[in-house]
Amino acid sequence: MLKFSPPRLDQTTVDAVSEVLLSGWITTGPKTKQFEKEISDYVGCRKTICLNSATAGLELVCRWFGLKEGDEVIVPAYTYCASANIILHCGAKPVLVDIDEKDFNISVNNIREAITENTKIIIPVDIGGWPCDYDLINELVNEPSIKAVFTPNNEVQKKLGRLLVMSDAAHSIGASMNGKMTGSLADITVFSFHAVKNLTTAEGGAVCMNLPEQFDCDEVYQILNIKSLHGQSKDALAKTQVGNWRYDVLEPGYKCNMMDIQAAIGLVELHRYDETLKRRKEIVNYYANALGQYDWAQIPDFISESKESSYHLFLLRIKDITEDQRDEIISKIFDKQVSVNVHFQPLPLLTAYNTRGYKMEDYPEAFNKYHNEITLPVYFDLTDSDLELVVNAVVESVSEVI
Ligand SMILES: *Cc1c(COP(=O)(O)O)cnc(C)c1O
Repeated sequence: MLKFSPPRLDQTTVDAVSEVLLSGWITTGPKTKQFEKEISDYVGCRKTICLNSATAGLELVCRWFGLKEGDEVIVPAYTYCASANIILHCGAKPVLVDIDEKDFNISVNNIREAITENTKIIIPVDIGGWPCDYDLINELVNEPSIKAVFTPNNEVQKKLGRLLVMSDAAHSIGASMNGKMTGSLADITVFSFHAVKNLTTAEGGAVCMNLPEQFDCDEVYQILNIKSLHGQSKDALAKTQVGNWRYDVLEPGYKCNMMDIQAAIGLVELHRYDETLKRRKEIVNYYANALGQYDWAQIPDFISESKESSYHLFLLRIKDITEDQRDEIISKIFDKQVSVNVHFQPLPLLTAYNTRGYKMEDYPEAFNKYHNEITLPVYFDLTDSDLELVVNAVVESVSEVI
């Protein structure tokens, strides 16, 4: 069976991990700090903190921003559950909005219509690695009439003076827009280094800060760092220094720091990421050319005048089919020894969300994109003959069903 998304791992990764394992320091320490610095340099943001997942990063930022009961956060209906679960963790309300017709991303007009005096944060999600319209979103939150609606209820919110834009960039490290990399396009950008993502640390994530100049990003880093380690005033490494044993617990914090073992994998991944992206782009172009010849194929966007994707997911859609036909095509593709997937079931289809009152019929574009979508495998180790196998499996399976 051809796999869907195995990580790019080899002896270089094994050697880097072994070095950390035998170094005497395996949890958060020098490798994590180096990884943070190199991510900031790569994406061009002011400061980065690495954590054990993107989910933890999204939630810590909400906690730092003081998100609480009664607050609302705008998030697309078409995303992975993590983008919205964290809002519920904070006791706030996810305000789901529909996506745009032109791509799989949140519609800026729908964001505008969803803003109320309770709105605190907007979470655009770069589905498949394709950046959202950050120029328009940043413009929107700075419009005087939109700023006038914003009702700050703590010092951090007062200091920002408008809605926070927190990008869920779990898919989009390496993507760019108007010559800037994701990580520098929003106030906060959160990357995922989960095993199936473009750049992995097995599990892991990073929060990139590009807050306006009234914020001291080193200070925000310290706040997030303390929150990620039980509220301890000193981390484990600092406590190992001679005589430096005493610490305080400033608040009942969380436990979501990144280990140096993970950072060592991430540094190997980052150092060869240009090569990874190059191969992913070749794969995507191969699929686009081979499948683009068929009338039934709808190919997603990967590059335009202003944007370039990180080539994370190939979101193929088959014109004029039902959800059942899509599922049948998928099972026929699996019969041909090729793994495919669906990204994503819109949140209202999931029990946790439909039992909270979100209805699929309120998000027609999300359903439209989902019902005929099949995600094809994209990863570094796919060979050219694997690509032929995938395309043949898809073409044959479609012809068997429609
Ligand atoms: C994977 C993913 C996440 C969560 O990433 P973790 O690192 O597993 O927490 C969040 N949002 C989206 C869109 C994702 O695909």
